[in-house]
Amino acid sequence: MATSQAKDTKSSGSGKSVAIVGGGVSGLTAAYKLKSKGVKVILFESEGYAGGKIRSNSENGFLWDEGANTMTESEKEVGRLIDELNIRDKQQFPLSQHKRYIVRNGKPELIPSDPISLIKSSILSTQSKLKLLMEPFMWRSSDQKSSAKVSDEYSKESVRSFFQRHFGKEVVDYLIDPFVAGTSGGDPDSLYMPYAFPELWDLEKKYGSIIAGAILSKLKAKSSDKGEKNTLVKKRNTRASFSFHGGMQVLIDSLSKEVGGDNLKLNSKVLSLAYNYEAKSPSGTWSIACDTRNPGTKDITRKQSFDAVIMTAPVSSVQEMKFSLGRSPFVLDFLPKVSYLPFSLLVTAFKKESVQRPLEGFGVLVPSIEQKNGLKTLGTLFSSMMFPDRAPSDQYLYTTFIGGSRNRDLAGVPLHVLKEMVTADLKKLLGAEGEPTFIKHIHWKNAFPLYDKDYNLVLEAIGKMEKSLPGFFYAGNNKDGLAVGKAITSGSKVAELVMSYLDNKS
Ligand code: FAD
Repeated sequence: MATSQAKDTKSSGSGKSVAIVGGGVSGLTAAYKLKSKGVKVILFESEGYAGGKIRSNSENGFLWDEGANTMTESEKEVGRLIDELNIRDKQQFPLSQHKRYIVRNGKPELIPSDPISLIKSSILSTQSKLKLLMEPFMWRSSDQKSSAKVSDEYSKESVRSFFQRHFGKEVVDYLIDPFVAGTSGGDPDSLYMPYAFPELWDLEKKYGSIIAGAILSKLKAKSSDKGEKNTLVKKRNTRASFSFHGGMQVLIDSLSKEVGGDNLKLNSKVLSLAYNYEAKSPSGTWSIACDTRNPGTKDITRKQSFDAVIMTAPVSSVQEMKFSLGRSPFVLDFLPKVSYLPFSLLVTAFKKESVQRPLEGFGVLVPSIEQKNGLKTLGTLFSSMMFPDRAPSDQYLYTTFIGGSRNRDLAGVPLHVLKEMVTADLKKLLGAEGEPTFIKHIHWKNAFPLYDKDYNLVLEAIGKMEKSLPGFFYAGNNKDGLAVGKAITSGSKVAELVMSYLDNKS
């Protein structure tokens, strides 16, 4: 049961109804927030399950995540949601989560987590280490005005160019490239700073140096948190990764329970949306048509109209929907095509005695440049090292990623080929010998939207839809960032926007 602080039934939302399209974490969060304000919500989800890119599974004593594996509490909305849902006690933090590895010369090397270990580490050359340590001084000297000039000049700067300016090529090849491949499926050349890393992009504009900017803004956030009553929030490391006892599914199940089974229409793919209004009346309502797999939904869509719509389905799905405004079709020809990156996840287990060099920690990432050493995977999470209760005690469980923009074609190869690639990489990196004792394959054809050079056109087109269609709002990872925390924030914020729209409407 959610805590009473989220419930505010006196709000002006009472009597209003909102349709939410898409039951990923952003849509569920929006539905939950609106429902807690007394708004009637109906959430339409095309699949037979809620959660979208978050889904956990279990079998034979193994538990694994098929989409997002961990999240952070960097955004305040995440902490609030966890408290409201009363699932704080279910949070599960990975053991030795600061131990993360990057492959260098075919071998996993520990990523240094502080300046002293950076100096000692063999992950970068002395020249690159110096460049990293000097960055706050180098970029402070180009004062804020000139750094703003630099940003203007590079107003559509790629992730590679941005980080290379600050830290040099080696840092991009060995730290940035594997990081973006592991977290977004992208690569530093295709991803663009203002859309992929908006916060760092703004830090440069404000402070010049990224490192100094990050430290200063953290200090600022700390001092503004001083007024917070809840001391627990202050003590929490909001950047730490975590999951839940039972996997990320716990978050989805708690949200779904709060939204309520009757309001969650599964197997209900939205096909068309119409905003209906009379010429003399300023305020109209929305009606929605779905495919007919779910008989309950058919009834709802025939009888019910909505005061607003929140769309959280990917842009590619929106492009398949028909919109109308009054009696005229509203054609989406201005909505650009989004490029989506494919991903395969291979979950494998090995007997402990078969793994010669098991590494304690979170996981290992493979830079593109290390493909020359025969490595084909993007990286592997040490799932049972992080969460020992997710595998029988005599086995290690691993989750390996393949594909992304680096190897689009590899994501779709048959299981026996994937298995060969993954076992070969795990043998090289960890000394895992022989056949896995357990194997599961998950293929996401459209795992991540690629925030590329022209993504501003996508964002502008979404803005145009929101402006032209009364009571239409867009949220989720095609707009507000890829991380689970960003999707939660997007869902929370859109719920606030809808509340003020409903206030003005009444
Ligand atoms: P989605 O989860 O994509 O939800 C959109 C929903 O809309 C889907 O359920 C879809 O079925 C539904 N839909 C589509 N069309 C229609 C229609 N016509 N009618 C009705 N419904 C429709 N993030 C992290 O922070 N940490 C991680 O470790 C991490 N790992 C990841 C690993 C993988 C393999 C993937 C794919 C993603 C990962 N992410 C991770 C990213 C994160 O999981 C997603 O960005 C986030 O969950 C997206 O949530 P969303 O609600 O915006 O979109």
